[in-house]
Amino acid sequence: MAKPNDRVQPSKPAPSPISRDAGIGELGLVATPIGNLGDLSVRAAEYLRAADAIACEDSRITIRLLQHLQIKKPLLSYHDHNADEMRPRLIERLQRGEKMALVSDAGTPLISDPGFKLVREVAALGIAVTALPGPSAPIMALILSGLPTDRFLFLGFLAAKSAARRTELEEVAGLRASLILFETAPRLVTALSDLRAVLGDRPAAVARELTKMFEEVRRGSLQELLDHYTQAGPPKGEIVIVVGPPLAEAANAAVDLDAALLKALGVLRVKEAAEAVAAATNLPKRQVYQRALELKQQGGADKGARGEGGADDE
Ligand code: SAM
Repeated sequence: MAKPNDRVQPSKPAPSPISRDAGIGELGLVATPIGNLGDLSVRAAEYLRAADAIACEDSRITIRLLQHLQIKKPLLSYHDHNADEMRPRLIERLQRGEKMALVSDAGTPLISDPGFKLVREVAALGIAVTALPGPSAPIMALILSGLPTDRFLFLGFLAAKSAARRTELEEVAGLRASLILFETAPRLVTALSDLRAVLGDRPAAVARELTKMFEEVRRGSLQELLDHYTQAGPPKGEIVIVVGPPLAEAANAAVDLDAALLKALGVLRVKEAAEAVAAATNLPKRQVYQRALELKQQGGADKGARGEGGADDE
């Protein structure tokens, strides 16, 4: 039987600047708390303490964390608006042998935060990159949601405008995966309304103020959540929405969709087949057209009603 500490391997030293050669550059991606300072790991604090410099999004926010840890370090600003200009400077310092930590304002850097191009370039130059893992709002929301965790897709922030948001959702509507997305409090109701309209009434959760005093996870169907927040008004604080995968009946509908499309593709071109099936099933045209194209490319239409090969397409 596994002992509680079987997974901890004290014999293998955790990578930290202390165990690395001096003078060899290293970039450490350091996760910081998303609301509760107690969530900063011992190893993350140790890394920040040993770093030569810290690259951060907003120095005013990072200074507060460093003050809490009683750490004083040179801070290098690295955010969406100066990243292209700053990246070569950070890389130059790493090439000179500096140990540099990258933090974001909160949570795990690179997750809807700057850093991936820096990691890509640093790794391509053969400079060491390590990560000091810790809090991340999307993962915390997912595990609290009570929704399936075996397959999930993180969508970050969707478009601010409803029409563009619906188009983005249509692209992922057929995926058998839980969906995780960030949303702002003032847009929560319209976002839930778009999710309900495009994805159907799936089980979902709204996770709010995670790790903070007023942490809340509200679980329900998209319609129930929409009704609640329409009545209650937008909640305060930071929000993650998690939506479960399509329900079994929706999965059956997907099978029916394929059957209907295969039949139509036997006698119609892709565009006409998609239009006819979208009208008959009430499913979004774009989703049906996309599926029709996939079936056509897979040669699925060959197995359709006409027996050999569907209608020719332009
Ligand atoms: N890199 C961060 C992470 O790993 O959690 C995410 C950064 S993203 C720019 C910020 C968004 O994350 C917020 O708008 C909100 O949707 C979500 N978020 C951050 N902290 C949160 C919290 N304590 N509770 C709920 N959502 C949070």
